[in-house]
Amino acid sequence: MTTQKTTNSRIYLSSPHMSDEGYEQEYIKEAFDTNWIAPLGKNVNEFEKELAAKVGSGHAAALSSGTAAIHMALKAAGVGEGDVVFCQSLTFSATANPIIYQNAIPVFIDSDYKTWNMSPIALEKAFEKYPNAKAVLVVHLYGLAVDMDKIVEICKKHNAILIEDAAESLGTTYKGKYTGTFGDYGIFSFNGNKIITTSGGGMLVSDNEERIAKVRFWSTQSRDQARHYQHSEIGYNYRMSNIVAGIGRGQLRVLDQRVTKKKYIFDFYKRELEQLDGIRFMPINKWNESNCWLSCVMLSGQVKPLDVMETLEKENIESRPIWKPMHMQPVFEGYDFIGEGVSDKIFESGVCLPSDTKMTDEDLSRICNVIKELWK
Ligand SMILES: *Cc1c(COP(=O)(O)O)cnc(C)c1O
Repeated sequence: MTTQKTTNSRIYLSSPHMSDEGYEQEYIKEAFDTNWIAPLGKNVNEFEKELAAKVGSGHAAALSSGTAAIHMALKAAGVGEGDVVFCQSLTFSATANPIIYQNAIPVFIDSDYKTWNMSPIALEKAFEKYPNAKAVLVVHLYGLAVDMDKIVEICKKHNAILIEDAAESLGTTYKGKYTGTFGDYGIFSFNGNKIITTSGGGMLVSDNEERIAKVRFWSTQSRDQARHYQHSEIGYNYRMSNIVAGIGRGQLRVLDQRVTKKKYIFDFYKRELEQLDGIRFMPINKWNESNCWLSCVMLSGQVKPLDVMETLEKENIESRPIWKPMHMQPVFEGYDFIGEGVSDKIFESGVCLPSDTKMTDEDLSRICNVIKELWK
């Protein structure tokens, strides 16, 4: 199979990229051959083991989505009705929604410019106002690592459970350790736009074996150990299927290649566009080996994010704004926000450039030339 390529074919923000070797299909074929089509089976068990080993976590539960994984992390953490959860405001809504599923109360926390992620200073302030907050939910946005040393210390001091939304940062390290493994729980997503994809899926990781076993129980309808169908807890249908897990096992084998390409894309843009007036690239700190899931910039000069997005769209090139912070969302109106509007400013001035790993140098040059035209 070859893919047709012409100079004007659409360039995507970040689309699924299966291995050249066809690993995914080998695992799926094995599932078909053994008729392990339904949920559970060897691929699910192996995908959990392989992902946990890759990131250096004790245990993993494969689930139907990253959102389900966040929901199960909150439930495993004991977050329930009326509990306060400090949630990074600058993120995708899937981070925050499960707090509501658990009837808990989100309090949104601002970002800082140094990381684009949760500000440790704002988090300290939040604990002054809500000393009994139960959990902290940080997000490694676009593959940029949160300043984990500071956040871990604050959570310990206040006895709060730490959950890392690493949906966008699989393959990112902070001081040599993979994101998703610093807190009590970490989650990953394999949605279609993520660095590796299973078409849809998620993973919860933790060093707490008992809690992970409990999540597997809840996510398969909470069936008690009995011949008849008996339930003493509310269940969920959140487990990953054996077919989907097969895609995941194949994708995991090319994760490092994808990270290398994403970094190459970021460096390409930086080299070509850094000189433009008012452009500032997302902050990759010394302690952060980023997976560069999306290459993002902030614009503070004459050229606005909308100019870039509209001009690229005319050339059949996809780009996106930065996530709109949760404290600015109508659905979360009325919930508290602690901060100084840094996330608002990142949102208003930011743009995500196409970061598809199937792009060629020719594609990248084309994008850069279109962007540079705006400064002429
Ligand atoms: C994609 C994403 C999620 C949700 O993952 P799904 O697998 O799509 O449910 C959660 N948080 C962030 C930051 C994401 O980008």
